[in-house]
Amino acid sequence: MTVDLVLRSRRTVLPDGERPAAVAVGGGRIVAVTDYREQVPATVDTDLGDVALLPGLVDTHVHVNEPGRTEWEGFATATLAAAAGGVTTIVDMPLNSLPPTVDAAALAVKQQAATGRCHVDVGFWGGAVPGNAPALPDLYAAGVFGFKAFLADSGVPEFPPLDAGQLAAAFAAVPALFVIHAEQPDQLHTAVSSTRYRDFLASRPPAAEVDAVTSAIDVARRGNARIHILHLSAAGALPVLAAARRAGLPVSAETCPHYLTLSAEEIPDGATEFKCCPPIRDRANQDALWAALADGTISCVVSDHSPCLPALKTPDTGDFSTAWGGIASVQMGLPAVWTEARRRGFGLGDVVRWMAEGPADLVGLADKGRIVVGAQADLVAFDPTPSYHVDPGRLRQRHPVSPYNGRRLTGIVRATWLRGAPITPDAPRGRLITRGTDDR
Ligand SMILES: [Zn+2]
Repeated sequence: MTVDLVLRSRRTVLPDGERPAAVAVGGGRIVAVTDYREQVPATVDTDLGDVALLPGLVDTHVHVNEPGRTEWEGFATATLAAAAGGVTTIVDMPLNSLPPTVDAAALAVKQQAATGRCHVDVGFWGGAVPGNAPALPDLYAAGVFGFKAFLADSGVPEFPPLDAGQLAAAFAAVPALFVIHAEQPDQLHTAVSSTRYRDFLASRPPAAEVDAVTSAIDVARRGNARIHILHLSAAGALPVLAAARRAGLPVSAETCPHYLTLSAEEIPDGATEFKCCPPIRDRANQDALWAALADGTISCVVSDHSPCLPALKTPDTGDFSTAWGGIASVQMGLPAVWTEARRRGFGLGDVVRWMAEGPADLVGLADKGRIVVGAQADLVAFDPTPSYHVDPGRLRQRHPVSPYNGRRLTGIVRATWLRGAPITPDAPRGRLITRGTDDR
């Protein structure tokens, strides 16, 4: 039997570790994982040598903004950026696009907008907002992977936050995974107008996250809900999470490349490209986040790619209170995290566990995020050694505004395959995926 493709690498990252191997692909799936030098009749046989072969990353936290705010970002540009960053599956957040994905009709509008434009596979989150609990079962049946809820202001008026009672009502409406933006509004002081980063940081203190994580876990425990804490920044919330997990509660957490690789100490005043919510905190906090990845308290690293117009992101005033809170980094996550992971003594297998396997497991995509026989042949050639300065001209997102611009990173994506075929800018082959999708 001749297979479609064989990719060989001396650094193939498999679930049980990194080793020389050959990966054979047929019909878009991995059909064999063999010795590096094994002869397998194949239409295309590529030896990557010391360039690592990874499973395509799964980024479950991306804001595409189309339709409605397509001038901020759209499916074509976001998914091209994803592919260039080694990400082969994204799950789109329910807000910032218009309409927000808060009922089945809005999901249909978004799927229509995405059709034919995606270079990687795209799934969708639904949104839980005040009053839409009755709409959640139908939206879930339509295939969203779960529901996002905010406990504090979301940044856009059409997606208001839930209080504890509304959150309980959402949990009661549907037995789904709920993903929570955990900042407690009464601990935030967001009206403070300032160009100084330390004022912005002080306006969103760690206590806001600790209180919100505590309260979300409490409401989830009483409602038997499965929750996931989004973009955890404050290390102070880690003991709360760890205790909940030790008690057997179904709660997990993610963090983002910017919390792991950038620190408050280095952010210049007026540099609003670094603004995100919750904020990037200090180095000691960052060390604790890495420790939580190492011990499994945090299981996923995802981008929270959240672009907007350059004038909103970096206003001339340099005022942190009015700049958009979001960092667009779906393309930069892998090299950013690898650069720091390597410095701290972690391996590519760790990075794959956090950025591919963990997020795939979070949303139940058992046949993505790992190199095993039967999985979809979503694969990445990642050269882990070259160092370079990030060139905004190479960013594929709609607007190349990024705190990583000019930063020195190590590791670069050389090629990305979706279901065994290379991703190329001219032919979008990404599928729209739904919860429970398995096309075998
Ligand atoms: Zn987000």
